[in-house]
Amino acid sequence: MLTDPQREALRRLPAVHELLKRKELTPWLKRLPRGWVAQAVGEAIAMGRREILENPTAPHPSASELVARAVDSLHRLTEPRLRPVLNGSGVVLHTNLGRAVLSEAATEAIRQVARSASNLEFRLEEGGRGSRYDHVEELLCRLTGAEAAMVVNNNAAAVFHVLQALAKGKEVIVSRGQLVEIGGSFRVSEIMRESGGRLVEVGTTNKTRIQDYEQALTDETGMLMKVHTSNFRIIGFTEEASRQQLATLAWKWSIPFFEDLGSGILYDLKAHGIGDEPTVRECLEEGTDLLSFSGDKLLGGPQAGIIVGKKVWIDRLKKNQLTRSLRVDKFTLAALEATLRHYLNPEEAAQKIPTLRQILKEEGELKSAAEQLAGMIRETTGDVLRIETVPARSEVGGGSLPGVELPTHCVAITPQKMSLTQLEYRLRQAPVPVVGRVFQNRLFLDPRTLEVNDFPQVAASFRYALQM
Ligand SMILES: *Cc1c(COP(=O)(O)O)cnc(C)c1O
Repeated sequence: MLTDPQREALRRLPAVHELLKRKELTPWLKRLPRGWVAQAVGEAIAMGRREILENPTAPHPSASELVARAVDSLHRLTEPRLRPVLNGSGVVLHTNLGRAVLSEAATEAIRQVARSASNLEFRLEEGGRGSRYDHVEELLCRLTGAEAAMVVNNNAAAVFHVLQALAKGKEVIVSRGQLVEIGGSFRVSEIMRESGGRLVEVGTTNKTRIQDYEQALTDETGMLMKVHTSNFRIIGFTEEASRQQLATLAWKWSIPFFEDLGSGILYDLKAHGIGDEPTVRECLEEGTDLLSFSGDKLLGGPQAGIIVGKKVWIDRLKKNQLTRSLRVDKFTLAALEATLRHYLNPEEAAQKIPTLRQILKEEGELKSAAEQLAGMIRETTGDVLRIETVPARSEVGGGSLPGVELPTHCVAITPQKMSLTQLEYRLRQAPVPVVGRVFQNRLFLDPRTLEVNDFPQVAASFRYALQM
């Protein structure tokens, strides 16, 4: 049963055609076909009606309020939703913030092939049909020492492709210590099932020896597989079979030894004292036949799944029907090629690829950057925030280099006139949103993942958040 105030409120709800006459909507009626504006108004009225029905005592929404809601929804409809944000989180490869930021050269390469026709599948020498993979295969082979290479959508697709093309209906032997789930529901066991491979688990969570693989091998075995455990790490009393051992065993049985490396590295970070991950080249030299990794993790390129290794196996992958449905577009190839070219000169890679540059930033540089950023925010916001700089730790993220923490200096902010939650919320609503990290009841901004050029924009977003 409706109450009298509810009945009255429903009666007073305006009609769509009445609200369309309001002056706030005139610019929208000039910009968009009437239908879109009428729909936004209709939805605002319908929402008002629901509010009245759900709450017997609520005051009815005014016409101005309904129009304001319609205008909000028209803004949402016409403004880009997917847009740049400032990553102050200190997580270099933040999956929710789009993982690797591309180099200038990679960004420009995308622009070039986007605005013009290209030789994507066209051989300029002979004037005939070519393969889209040619543009990166030679580079990948030279940089990793592999015989052959191919590229698919992402590393999850690469793993799926390898399993279904080479091990469908066969057994795939994996150590129990490597049956992990990674990030957004990538589970080795599930991928295996989907691909038609039959998972054979060997060893225990902490120890798996080469004898465990040997004992599990049968005529049904199609592959030995090693999986990088990414953001999960087993420490203490552990043991695993080496690449050399697995490669030798696979060779004896004429099956491939495949490794899902997760975040493949082409630049030797361990030589800089960062983590202890082998490079892709080192894994191949140790005997891995076939190896896959992501394009947008430590490589610092576009989203892609890169597969490198022995030509016999890559040829079989290329011939498989599935290749077509996992294929990458020209933007990915353009950005990947430009990113890979940086690696021809490791010093250039370290300077030009944002992922590497951010990981390699030194404490002294970060300290003065934090002080500079703190000064700029202080200057624009006055005394409504307490702003300090403090030593802290950044993370590589993306499941890469688990356990590695990079020393940094952050700007730590305590709002004085609003709650921390409010400040965070307002910063996310800014035209260029700022994402920080809440820690010890303060908002931390880490200059590791911000560039000095971004600082004025960070300060501007603070001004917006504080409505100054
Ligand atoms: C990240 C990761 C994947 C998934 O890679 P995407 O490129 O995100 O699809 C698969 N395996 C491992 C070990 C990973 O770390």
